[in-house]
Amino acid sequence: MTYQNFSLNQLQDIDAAHHLHPFTDHKDLRGAGSRMITRADGPFIYDSEGKQILDGMAGLWCVNVGYGRHELAEAAYEQMKELPYYNSFFRCTTPTPVLLSKKLAEVAPAHINQVFYGSSGSEANDTALRLVRHYWALEGKPEKNIIISRHNAYHGSTVAGTSLGGMSAMQSQLGGAVPNIVHVMMPYAFELAEPGESDHDFGIRAAKAIEDAILEAGPENVAAFIGEPIMGAGGVKIPPASYWPEVQRICRKYDVLLMLDEVITGYGRTGAWFAAQSMGIEPDTITTAKALTSGYQPLSALLVGDRIASALVEKGGEFFHGYTYSGHPVACAVALANLEIIEKEGLIERVRDETGPYFNKALKERIEGHPIVGEVRSFGLMGAIEIVKDKESRARFPDEGTAAVAVRDHAIANGMMLRATGDTMILSPPLIWTRETIDLAIERIAKALDLAERDLRK
Ligand SMILES: *Cc1c(COP(=O)(O)O)cnc(C)c1O
Repeated sequence: MTYQNFSLNQLQDIDAAHHLHPFTDHKDLRGAGSRMITRADGPFIYDSEGKQILDGMAGLWCVNVGYGRHELAEAAYEQMKELPYYNSFFRCTTPTPVLLSKKLAEVAPAHINQVFYGSSGSEANDTALRLVRHYWALEGKPEKNIIISRHNAYHGSTVAGTSLGGMSAMQSQLGGAVPNIVHVMMPYAFELAEPGESDHDFGIRAAKAIEDAILEAGPENVAAFIGEPIMGAGGVKIPPASYWPEVQRICRKYDVLLMLDEVITGYGRTGAWFAAQSMGIEPDTITTAKALTSGYQPLSALLVGDRIASALVEKGGEFFHGYTYSGHPVACAVALANLEIIEKEGLIERVRDETGPYFNKALKERIEGHPIVGEVRSFGLMGAIEIVKDKESRARFPDEGTAAVAVRDHAIANGMMLRATGDTMILSPPLIWTRETIDLAIERIAKALDLAERDLRK
């Protein structure tokens, strides 16, 4: 059965009849119909009408090496022929997760040497939550189980992910979160800094909110703090440089573990293997997924620091947790081939030294001046554009989200895929973008901003 035997309308009808989509209002979807993407190559995706769209989101923050990589298809094909599946329960293993673990230990910060696999970022955060609580129980402190997170954080969509995350709309449908998770302010200067407060001071104040929460709960009851180095789905919120070192200082002071969710920032997006390295911090766990395989296979890796890993070995006792597809041999083969491409093509260095700075400059010089833009920011190849009605006062357009959706829809119509979250446009391009690709994206975004402004000011 090939889809080419169906017309677009037929496929859309079948989609509507049988396919429930993630994060979708199904009433809206019925009205508008779905956008069908049928193929992709390099930095471009193509819809069923053959329209070429520059993919400013790398799929969903994941296709870092771009589309159409035959090496990855071949790695999967070869592995499937040799051994399509075997589990890693009951003292079994297979070669590709073994080699991938070695590779990840090499590129991760020095104190991180162990890996636990799943198939998604949400699963990896579920593992992380259980592992840090298990760690404190092994240490004889089972009451040390509160986890501090932040408002508007995104840690995935399972029950654990949603509980750790700080998205109120998601939590309102949860019917009861995992207990003992508390949320503090996010480091989002654009909306939360006081007038005249320096970036540095704001970063320290946002970190202080974590210390306040630790003291309120009692440090003897707090297991860990979890955060995305740069909040992604929440709107590419880049903390001031003062924030992370201060967060680490506070965690160490109260013996609270530091958990980083690098599902977006891992594998090169910030111009280092991990944002932990960009920010100069040493987390106890790093959650990774998305770009680990560049999205070519579902795979997550929870990187576990020596402190937790050695407790597992020294104290013993089974950790009652794992997934059928933990260490899936095909997904791990694709990850190995993907990391090889990243290294061979020097993509991380390119983001750090060339395209990251160029992207930042292009946003600052060619987008920030636009009348409906309140701020642009970027770190590596991760960027945000704040849409405002009034540049000076930073007042937003009425009906939160409407303005950003208008920009997004014009952008897509003009061959540029980007995302709107609240009134923030977000960008997370593949790491293969060149200066020329950035120029093309900026041109299309500027045009979308013009067209959206025209509509919005009507
Ligand atoms: C996408 C994402 C997740 C969830 O990953 P899934 O693979 O969708 O389960 C978790 N954390 C962050 C920071 C993410 O961006």
